[in-house]
Amino acid sequence: MNIMLLGAPGSGKGTQAEKLVKELDFIQFSTGDLFRKEISNQTKLGVLAASYMNEGNLVPDDLTNGIVNEGLKTQSDQLIFDGYPRTLNQAIALEEMLTNLNSKIDYILFIDVDKEILLDRIAGRMICPKCKASFHLTNRKPKVDGICDFDGTKLERRPDDEPAKVLVRLETYEADTKPLIDFYSSRPGFIHIKATDMDVDSIFAVIKKGLNK
Ligand code: AMP
Repeated sequence: MNIMLLGAPGSGKGTQAEKLVKELDFIQFSTGDLFRKEISNQTKLGVLAASYMNEGNLVPDDLTNGIVNEGLKTQSDQLIFDGYPRTLNQAIALEEMLTNLNSKIDYILFIDVDKEILLDRIAGRMICPKCKASFHLTNRKPKVDGICDFDGTKLERRPDDEPAKVLVRLETYEADTKPLIDFYSSRPGFIHIKATDMDVDSIFAVIKKGLNK
């Protein structure tokens, strides 16, 4: 079974993906993480991707679909697509790649959070550079300030979580990614979670119920 997470930056896709990995044995397939790995390995693709990411812009579709195509060669089942697709072009490419691998998306989870609170949420976000766990200065505090609960690594702020970059990312979401909601909403397995006033565990409970787990 494969799952896709849709939602704006800051909607909590990464946090829910983490829970799906820990509790239901899924594998997170995050194009953002794949690009960050390329950046830390200082590959040619990483350098190119960073020039878009650091400004809050999308990496072009051909590069993004290419990295996904490579990743799917290792694993094409039990995945959670987190942050991919982000454009219609990518959605169409993904269908084709999965069909060729005799695989498909079974559930599409749209985590719908009001735009007004997204900026606030991202402003407080801190990430563990080692295990990628996500914390928040007010909503999901680590046990020790600034330190990852799981491996003791010093937490960091992502460079594209700076307020000016976040505004660009939210605009890009509205223009390029939101149309995907229409593209997927009539599909079987589409679940719309109105998550603005829900905490992490309540959202996860809705997800589990939706997945019959
Ligand atoms: P994320 O970790 O999903 O928030 O992604 C961080 C950044 O990586 C995005 O703001 C984009 O610059 C880039 N990125 C990640 N996934 C994609 C994608 N599917 N298409 C284009 N760019 C992406």
